[in-house]
Amino acid sequence: MTQIGSEDNPLRVAIVGAGPSGFYAAEHVLKDSSAHAQVDLFDRLPSPFGLVRGGVAPDHPKIKSVIRVYEKTAAREGFRFFGNVKVGHDIEVEDLERLYHAIVYTVGCETDRRLGIPGEDLPGSHAATAFVGWYNAHPDYCDLEFDLSCERAVVIGNGNVAMDVARMLALTDAELRTTDTADHAIEALDRSGICEIVVLGRRGPAQAAFTNPEIRELGEMADADVIVDPAEVALDPASAAYLESDQADKTTRVNVETLREFSGREPAGRRKRIVLRFLASPVEIRGEGKVGSVVVGRNELVDEGGTLRARDSGEREELECGLILRSVGYTGVPIEGVPFDERRGLILNEGGRVLDSHDAGHKVGHYTAGWIKRGPSGVIGTNKKDALETVRHLLADVESGTLMQPERPEPGAVEELLAERGVRYVSFEDWRAIDQAEVGRGEPHGRPRVKFVRVEEMLEALGEKVSG
Ligand code: NAP
Repeated sequence: MTQIGSEDNPLRVAIVGAGPSGFYAAEHVLKDSSAHAQVDLFDRLPSPFGLVRGGVAPDHPKIKSVIRVYEKTAAREGFRFFGNVKVGHDIEVEDLERLYHAIVYTVGCETDRRLGIPGEDLPGSHAATAFVGWYNAHPDYCDLEFDLSCERAVVIGNGNVAMDVARMLALTDAELRTTDTADHAIEALDRSGICEIVVLGRRGPAQAAFTNPEIRELGEMADADVIVDPAEVALDPASAAYLESDQADKTTRVNVETLREFSGREPAGRRKRIVLRFLASPVEIRGEGKVGSVVVGRNELVDEGGTLRARDSGEREELECGLILRSVGYTGVPIEGVPFDERRGLILNEGGRVLDSHDAGHKVGHYTAGWIKRGPSGVIGTNKKDALETVRHLLADVESGTLMQPERPEPGAVEELLAERGVRYVSFEDWRAIDQAEVGRGEPHGRPRVKFVRVEEMLEALGEKVSG
């Protein structure tokens, strides 16, 4: 058998999930010209770019400019995109094993974490991830309905997603109409009755997970005041000592300074208010048939092995509200046939090599990168380094010949299989046509694009150009 990664036997890699980690993994594999690599990048949606398209807030267009980097990867020789192909439905992991030397799973964390409190499933209580998908025109969420007729919304969590959803609820109609927010969301947000958005952090200002630009932005809204009670930014002794120590990180320092500055502001009487609360956890959601209020428990911080954790003080207050968005993190969804760590919500792996089970070795030929490898943390760029670690292991395994031996490694085999199964896959060229159609729809309105919200709409935009 010729050496894998040679001219006669090019390294064939399937990457599952076309978000940032998928593109970074593809780039790292293709950059290594010695492996004569070919990468097929699969995504269940016709559109690539994962959370850059479906997660990043529409009023943060600069963050989305990273797409240009991914387009360069897509232009590399040996790269192919297979959009609209769901692994586990249209094609199985076992099929991929017959076609590729290696599979890299970069599917991200597709669902939300729950609070586990009574009333969480009442209508009006939603995962922030669903709200994000809805305003970003993600096909999975386009039919959801959010009742925005109430006066107060409560956002639970203190990460950047909480900042995004709080801000989206407070943007003016004029601001929204210059973005690529889904039309259905612009219309609903325009009619919204929400005038107060309360953000509940279960720990203190020095433990918040948001980053400096995101918290600062809340203080620069065109038509919303940011409100922080000075008593709530007063630090407990342990947090104060930490901030004064050499170990204090700059992000925490600046977050606390920003919140202190907010707490000294007089409200300017703007149309909306964003109220940031700390040491406050939801303990119950109440309502008759829909959300009517949330019972909030006051926390105190306790040192548990060097980490300051929130402990319920027993004190309660009830906040009337009609919308609750829980923004307490994402978690991974298992893929049939791929070992999964249920406790951590990740693919079982070591440095990106998928493990057979907790105490067994590498599941040969299977790799992972990004959130589904390490958990939902970090910024987009974090995934570049993360994918590099995985690809280094993969290339080391090419060297040692520890990869799968596919029955049909020729590039045409996957196209044949998809054609046999009647799967209309979307190539990168097809995607470019969809992309241009979206951009064209936005142009007359001075918007970057008007997204298609349904898979069928994207396929229709291609007309007879659809491959497969
Ligand atoms: P995150 O940063 O992990 O924040 C989750 C928040 O939920 C934390 O404040 C956490 O508090 C809180 N939480 C967890 N369980 C809770 C519970 N039971 N009750 C109350 N609060 C609870 O997650 P994320 O906001 O989903 O963001 C995911 C990643 O994407 C992050 O790395 C984020 O920075 C990134 N992101 C970046 C941007 C941007 O750069 N603009 C935008 C969006 C997302 P504890 O700390 O107490 O656990």
